[in-house]
Amino acid sequence: MADKINFSSARERMVKEQLIPRKIIDERVLSTMRTVPRHMFVPDELRHLAYNDAPLPIGHKQTISQPYIVALMTQLLELSTQDKVLEIGTGSGYQAAVLASIARQVYSIERFASLAERARRILMQLSLSNIEILEKDGSEGEVKFAPYDAIIVTAAAPKVPQPLIDQLADNGRMVLPVGGRNGQVLERWRRKGDDFSHERIAPVAFVPLVGDHGWDSEEHNISWRR
Ligand code: SAH
Repeated sequence: MADKINFSSARERMVKEQLIPRKIIDERVLSTMRTVPRHMFVPDELRHLAYNDAPLPIGHKQTISQPYIVALMTQLLELSTQDKVLEIGTGSGYQAAVLASIARQVYSIERFASLAERARRILMQLSLSNIEILEKDGSEGEVKFAPYDAIIVTAAAPKVPQPLIDQLADNGRMVLPVGGRNGQVLERWRRKGDDFSHERIAPVAFVPLVGDHGWDSEEHNISWRR
């Protein structure tokens, strides 16, 4: 039964078996992954699977990412404790919790009000007060709090949304999946002054970023706007 599971030892095993062998080496990322209770972010009936090496459904056809992908994207952001971070795609709120455990302030944007509300509730229970969840189309970012030291997009974009590039601070990093609906490449962008460079990291599969600078619908096989 779920309430008999020792979640903290399941987390420890997750770090040992899923993260360290795949080259997650940033100590802050590892210690955060050891601490943040992923089981609180998954639906009750799936809690016993919370520390498995897999994404899980969270409703509205959306998913909480695989732990390794959360750790990898966080590591790629090279966060410092002073950073202001923007996340697009709050979903369960788990990735936001991981970011907020390392960085100074996190703004996370979600298009489904019910997911945003649920995430807020869990984050409050965990007393994570340095996260603000906004309900809107995150493909346009949020100019109000820009620029951001780090931007992470946890939904797949057909191309890098220009507003997010514009909202990246000098020396900022952005990590996002870019590509088709059924498969993307994880990319890391860096800004140095007016120069932007990017690296392609690994093949990934995310749910679509739906919005003005993303896909025009949740459905498959529909062309994107631009
Ligand atoms: N980071 C999440 C997983 C994200 S799943 C976690 O840790 O659980 C992708 C999320 O992006 C979904 O919740 C989806 O509703 C949201 N999303 C998709 N397009 C969006 C957009 N344009 N703006 C904001 N959120 C968006």
